[in-house]
Amino acid sequence: MFYRQMETRKWQELDQAHYLHPFTDHKALREIGSRVAVRGEGVHVWDTEGRKIIDGLSGLGCVNIGYGRPELVAAASAQMSDLSFCQSFFNTTHPAAVLLAEKLVKLTPEGLNHVFFQCSGSEANETAVRAIRRYWDLQGQPGKKLIIAREYAYHGSTHLAASLSGLEPMHHAGGDVPMPVVHRIKTAYPYREKPAAMPDDEFGRLAASWLEDKILELGPENVAAFFAEPAQSAGGSIVPPMSYWPAIQDICRKYDVLLALDEVVMGFGRTGKWFGSFHYGITPDLMQIGKGLTSGYLPLSACLMSDRVADVLIDKGGEWAHGYTYSGHPSCCAVALANIEVIESEGLIENAADTLIPHFEARLAEFTDHPLMGDVRSVGLMAGLELVADRATGEAFDGALRVGQHCSAEGLSRGLAFRANGDTMALMPPLVMTVGQMDEMFAIVRAALDATARHLG
Ligand code: PLP
Repeated sequence: MFYRQMETRKWQELDQAHYLHPFTDHKALREIGSRVAVRGEGVHVWDTEGRKIIDGLSGLGCVNIGYGRPELVAAASAQMSDLSFCQSFFNTTHPAAVLLAEKLVKLTPEGLNHVFFQCSGSEANETAVRAIRRYWDLQGQPGKKLIIAREYAYHGSTHLAASLSGLEPMHHAGGDVPMPVVHRIKTAYPYREKPAAMPDDEFGRLAASWLEDKILELGPENVAAFFAEPAQSAGGSIVPPMSYWPAIQDICRKYDVLLALDEVVMGFGRTGKWFGSFHYGITPDLMQIGKGLTSGYLPLSACLMSDRVADVLIDKGGEWAHGYTYSGHPSCCAVALANIEVIESEGLIENAADTLIPHFEARLAEFTDHPLMGDVRSVGLMAGLELVADRATGEAFDGALRVGQHCSAEGLSRGLAFRANGDTMALMPPLVMTVGQMDEMFAIVRAALDATARHLG
């Protein structure tokens, strides 16, 4: 490899000297030191200390087919040899982007017939907002500008995507985030929001009614769109009741509010179906995808648009002044095609649905009695284990204790990467994990939880 051979400590020093990491407390990092990853294969990553770590998070919910697949390496290499770059601005296209757009239209819900490429999930959400604003302008309703998004949402880190996000720490004081165009509603979070005696179905409809309340408060003539993930990942693996989405769709239709569905994490098999939309029966007007589109091998995202939206942009809009140098980058598109080919030919989504997800759910159920456990929830291969100070009342731990962080460090020291979203421990294993590897993963989760309980006394 091109990198220099150096001791871990040297890497850490160099890392701290120059490299600003995303979502990182750099002062704290100085104390801990970065883990330096050097190799990945299947569900494992190795670091400079030679430690083999199970990736219980699929990187950041992206490495769905696992690390080190030669098919994707070959696709990137062949495409770079043939045509290393191609702009798509000035009446130019190339085969990989065309074929990928066609494939995505076939895989995604009915009616999403148009695809716009960019590199990240954040940018896909930016594209969606710009398309929506333009759509309403062209429809002669320029007043329809406001966007409704939810608490605990994560839609990315650009100024607008961070505004759509509903995670308090992202709303840096004085940074004008969130932008005033974004309005917030509570989310369908059964553990925190559902009245004790209320059946799940009824709660789903109640949570959907919060959208209707907000639309009426703002005035339907002012509301452009509702942005949401099918189930929320970074916000704490929050899974809505099945009744939630049909009710949301009805409300969007009733008030002519576009539904922009963020499938950046849930897409490409996470729920045991190709997209979360199929799991919940959602037909969005726009759909943003990323991450699992290339299994993280190269950066690529897409914003899919329905005929309803795209026809207006095309027929009434003329040139749409929006795009990125790397929109539809050839190697990224070639890798996405190879990734989809692997998922299809190996039946990874079927295997997840038939074998992995039932096992995942059965193993998760064993944690409901753990002394730290408030709630265990999952959809497909995404789970959240919410740790609480008091199981009877659901009282959260004092944030200063950093219980979730402690638990994930206990996991890492035992060879498992899993993440703390606040005090909710998140698991999102790759679709290629075996049942045996899943058992290994859960053994470490158990050990990390027990060690955390001992640490808390
Ligand atoms: N949307 C969702 C649901 C995400 O989880 C993320 C990233 O984690 C994003 C959007 C942003 O994607 P990116 O980090 O590629 O900009």
